[in-house]
Amino acid sequence: MMGQAYDPSNVFARILRGEIPAQKVYESAYALAFHDITPAAATHVLVIPKEAHVSLVDFVANASPATIQGFFQAVTETARLMGVEESGYRILANHGPNSGQEVPHFHVHIVGGQPLGPLLA
Ligand code: IMP
Repeated sequence: MMGQAYDPSNVFARILRGEIPAQKVYESAYALAFHDITPAAATHVLVIPKEAHVSLVDFVANASPATIQGFFQAVTETARLMGVEESGYRILANHGPNSGQEVPHFHVHIVGGQPLGPLLA
């Protein structure tokens, strides 16, 4: 199934190209992590792959196993650097209309730094 075409003007593509600033937390060959501009918790960081994929489904369908592994290693490394590994955290990725995904470049939210309560509260 064809996914949504990737829009290279989306805000995360612009961050990757250095066209707009981001408060970076971690960077590897596969991923970039930076603070969410509107934090929903005490810790709220976004991790994005450097490759252009619209959403989780596109990423898993089209990225190489090494890229997928490198991306999720960046997620756990970012959580460790943010100091939430011991206290615990939640990861979240939106896909498709019901999710309300705003930015059409695949990303994982890492939220933590406080008790998070029920998932859909
Ligand atoms: P989504 O709803 O899963 O697509 O989440 C997009 C997230 O990106 C939201 O939590 C926004 O606050 C965040 N965001 C949008 N623009 C920027 C930015 O320029 N820098 C950092 N975070 C951003």
